[in-house]
Amino acid sequence: MLKEITEATQSIQAKDQHFMHPWEDVTAIGTQARTVIAKADGIYIVDSDGNRLIDGPGGMWCVNVGHGREEIVEAVAAQMRDLTYFSPWSATAPPAAVLAERLANLAPGDLNNVFFTTGGSTAVDSALRFAFFYNNCLGRPEKKHIISRVGAYHGSTHLTASCSGKMLEKANMDMVEDTVHLIPNPNPALRPSGMSLEEFCDRKVADLENKILELGPDKVAAFIAEPILASGGVIIPPEGYYRRCHDLCRKHDVLFIADEVVTAFGRLGHYFASKDVFGVEPDMLTTAKGLTSGYVPMGALFISDRLMADIKAAGNEPKGFFSGFTYSGHPVAAAAALANLDIFEHDALLDHVAKVAPHFEKRLRELADLPMVRDIRVNGLMAGVECCLDPEKPDDERDMNFLLEVDEICQRNGLLLRPVYSSAVLSPPLTITAAQIDALVDILKQGLETAWENRATDPK
Ligand code: PLP
Repeated sequence: MLKEITEATQSIQAKDQHFMHPWEDVTAIGTQARTVIAKADGIYIVDSDGNRLIDGPGGMWCVNVGHGREEIVEAVAAQMRDLTYFSPWSATAPPAAVLAERLANLAPGDLNNVFFTTGGSTAVDSALRFAFFYNNCLGRPEKKHIISRVGAYHGSTHLTASCSGKMLEKANMDMVEDTVHLIPNPNPALRPSGMSLEEFCDRKVADLENKILELGPDKVAAFIAEPILASGGVIIPPEGYYRRCHDLCRKHDVLFIADEVVTAFGRLGHYFASKDVFGVEPDMLTTAKGLTSGYVPMGALFISDRLMADIKAAGNEPKGFFSGFTYSGHPVAAAAALANLDIFEHDALLDHVAKVAPHFEKRLRELADLPMVRDIRVNGLMAGVECCLDPEKPDDERDMNFLLEVDEICQRNGLLLRPVYSSAVLSPPLTITAAQIDALVDILKQGLETAWENRATDPK
């Protein structure tokens, strides 16, 4: 049961009216009373009234090594004492250089060039800018179209939001429309009844090839794809889809940008999922979140040696990539990332994920018998549990309200969820144990059952 809301909490909530949050409903400014999170340790967060909750979304898919790791706190403090900041334009700092080399060694294929950014959106935006720059350097300035997918999420800059395919979130927001193209969602649950997964995969790969051919391969710069569409509700495309899309891009000389802002750094049991899980060596790869486990903001774009060599081969005159940020390779963020990677090694975190992920999947699949559960999607330690109140009306607004109620009930019982449309998405800290997974799934199950019973007595 939740503890009483204290005056201290109310005071923060009043001040918070001035904090315009992401995805803020502007008409509701001044009326929101958000949960105030005051502390956190391990997989738990503690609100300002002392309620301890399992952090189901792991912050925002990011607190991979768990909250409150002293090693990162110490590394950040030590780095701040030595050097808080120096301009990356004019010099380098040891942590950023060491981190770049360490990441290049971990990254798949020839992704040896690490361009540090301030987060995921700026990593993706930089990848797209590099794709344009690359084609300009190669003397083909008309090769500028980008293909992305419905259901994708790539960020919140003008261009990355345009490449995102969460359609409800485009209302009232301007998008780049002439050069960004969204092909259909590769969610297997959307396939017509009677269609096999193999046929569906063929059709989704064909969507990409048809779009490339329709625009003309000489006009298409890049295809951008998350291996698993995270914020779209943990959409797992059919087996072989990602690799076949990559092969198609190669065939048509289109750059393949892997957006691994969520899937890198252990979420799927590997540092990077593209090669180790899906067999793909992308031309560019974007990360953020788990890179520092969210302790300090940082993102990184990895660019392949091949692209650098192509640019060099196109002529000897200097070709500046005039893109960068005041905080590119920030020493404090880099120190946090290095300490974060140390924890991965010392705690053998990837092995731990390999051990607990099957239990996570098994326990979640037990929810399939519940009457409102439509689909359960799990890979590694990320999952989406999709609900549908009326099978005749999937993706109804009532499903979203249902999930909000489930979240409310779960919070009372000690679990923070993240409803995304009609799915509850989960990406707990990777340190989660089997017993903690049991607790998480038990609370979720109870939340689903209670909200279902409430609905039966109050079918609004
Ligand atoms: N790409 C993906 C796949 C994401 O999930 C996100 C954020 O959730 C982003 C990019 C944007 O990252 P950020 O919010 O750090 O800018």
